[in-house]
Order: sequence, then C-alpha cells, then structure tokens
Amino acid sequence: MRTTAAFARAQNTAIALDSFTLDGPREGEVLIEMKAAGLCHSDMSFFDGSRDWSDYPLVLGHEGAGIVRDVGPGVTSLRPGDHVIPVGIPECGTCPACRSGKTNLCDLYFQPTTRRPFRLNGAPVRAFCELGTFSQFIVAREIQVTKVRPDAPLDVICCLGCAGATGMGSAIFTARMEAGTTAVIFGLGGIGQNVVDGARLSGASMIIGVDTNPGKEVSARAAGVTHFLNPADGDVVGQIRDLTGGGADYSFECTGNPEVLKQSVECTRIGWGTTVMIGVFPGHRQLELRPRAIQEGRRIMGSYLGNIKTRSQLPQLVDWYMEGKTSLDGLISHHLPLDQIGHGFDLLVRGEARRVVIDF
Ligand SMILES: [Zn+2]
Ligand SMILES: [Zn+2]
Repeated sequence: MRTTAAFARAQNTAIALDSFTLDGPREGEVLIEMKAAGLCHSDMSFFDGSRDWSDYPLVLGHEGAGIVRDVGPGVTSLRPGDHVIPVGIPECGTCPACRSGKTNLCDLYFQPTTRRPFRLNGAPVRAFCELGTFSQFIVAREIQVTKVRPDAPLDVICCLGCAGATGMGSAIFTARMEAGTTAVIFGLGGIGQNVVDGARLSGASMIIGVDTNPGKEVSARAAGVTHFLNPADGDVVGQIRDLTGGGADYSFECTGNPEVLKQSVECTRIGWGTTVMIGVFPGHRQLELRPRAIQEGRRIMGSYLGNIKTRSQLPQLVDWYMEGKTSLDGLISHHLPLDQIGHGFDLLVRGEARRVVIDF
C-alpha cells in the first residue's frame, strides 16, 4: 500500500514529505492507521544537525496513537479495531530485563533489526525507533504496540508514548518519589510539565519549577508547580537550598545542558538527594561533576521512557488522564495537519509551542 510520511533526508535539511510504499504486516507485526502523532525534540535531532547519524533517509516520529487495521501471523494480543499507542521500547515480556521488575529496557531494544517496512523509490527506508509515526500508516512489531482503552481521545493520549511516559515515569517509575518529598524540575517544556504531573501524583510536598522562559510559569503552576524560579534572577541552587531547608530530595534535569545538570545535582540534599537525567545531552560532550557532591551521598539516575514498561504499565497513564489526574490537555498547544509538520517544529524551536500534535 501507499502512505504519506514525513522524513529526514539528511542533517541540516528541512523535514520533507513523500509517498512511501509500505509492506503488509509479517509474522508478529501489525498494521496501524495513525490518528495522531506528537512532535518531539528527538525527531528534530535527525535534521537539525545535533545528532551523529548516517542511515538516511529516515522516516521520523516515535510518539503517536492509532487504530490497528491488520495483523500478521502469530499476533495474539492485538486485533483489527484496537486503539493503540506504538512505543519506542519493546516489551517482549520474557527476556531477563522484562522479567526483572527493575528496568523497562527489554533486551530486544538493543538488538538491531533489519526489517524495513517502508520503501522510497524501491529502496528500503529505516524508521526512527522502528516506528515512523509521522506516517498515515505504519507497520510495527506487536511487542512495540500498547493496547489502550477505546474511550480515550487519541489526539491527546498520543503524547503519552514519549513525553508522558518519560516525564511522569521519571518521577514515579525511575525516582520512585515518596509522598511528602520535594522535587525540582529544570526545564518546563513538554517533558518537564509531565514530570510535574508525576511529582504531584507521587504526593510531593513542594514542586519547584526552573525555566529561563517566564512564559512557562502559568502552565507550570496550573500543573502543580508550587514555586517558579528563573535563573536570570540569580543563584538558583542557593534559592532551592533555602526553600527546601538544605536541598531538594529529588531533581529532574530536562534541558540536556551540562551546566544545568551540575546545578540539578548541587541543589539536592546531602545524604540522599537524587537527580534524574532526562534531557538529551550532546553526544560528544563529557559531563563534569564535583566528585564530593556524589561522595556526600547524592545519586544520579537515568532512564529511557521514564522506566515505564511500555506494554504493561503505559495503560495506567491513560487511566490517569481519563480520571483527570494529568495536565496533558493544557500541554498540547497546537494541532496541525501532516503537511504543516515543518511549521510545527519551527514553533517548538522558537519556544512558541509546548506540544504540537499532528492530526491525520
Ligand atoms: Zn520523544
Ligand atoms: Zn524483553
């Protein structure tokens, strides 16, 4: 079949649209009609010059929601008509990682796949995360597709597959915040606001938001931020230590800036302060930290997609949204058709959008 998809031709070129050939689903695969897709900074890194990558062209998009239209042989957990969120990290359910209860990083995530359902002018084309959600139709492995309740609006819950999972998951499934603790979130974009949700759902007693853009304060406070700090107003670390009585229990770095990571470690409490690295750091940069900051008992953690097991735990986030417990509605600032996807990324770059959703 034919499908229109947005893709990267190379670094430092504009995102482009073309008509691709799409294979039908093979063993263990499903065909999904995409209904909505969210724009994420990691898609942009394949055409804005910020990532080392050579496998072009590349169909983009790793966040979205749609409806299963066909299933290949051997598919047992999905059938046509199911509402689904395709996810970047598989959950096979049987490997040591999936069975561990400790990580969502299924062993299959790290095994290269040679399957290329998309073709352009006859040549196989790779899709980001083996998904390519900026396409009207995609073919994905069953183990990378999460079934969700049919009453949830696909044009909103599409943002849970990356931003929601990464943000809420970092507080709940990575840091495992306890009720009554304090949290600081550096960077209040699409991910950061979901961290605020996660901290609030964890029962945080204080949520401090830090952002250089004062325009973020209103939506951040609506999401649950109790204190808003702008680094332009002076010593952020000192202000956080004062507000929390010595340092925050948890901090979340959502900017990918090495200098901000230092602040996010230094602002946590001696003895147990925990920093979660979320932002995407430039691959060539080494991180510098004050060794004593760690020896004093602070910890640094990281995770992909908030350490949420993608098929078994993501539906919980959909329930939370449906129960009115998240700020997701306020996060989505723009809905655009696929042919305006370039404009959508421009809005993100200029800081004029919080989350942009493509409606198919
Ligand atoms: Zn993403
Ligand atoms: Zn697995």
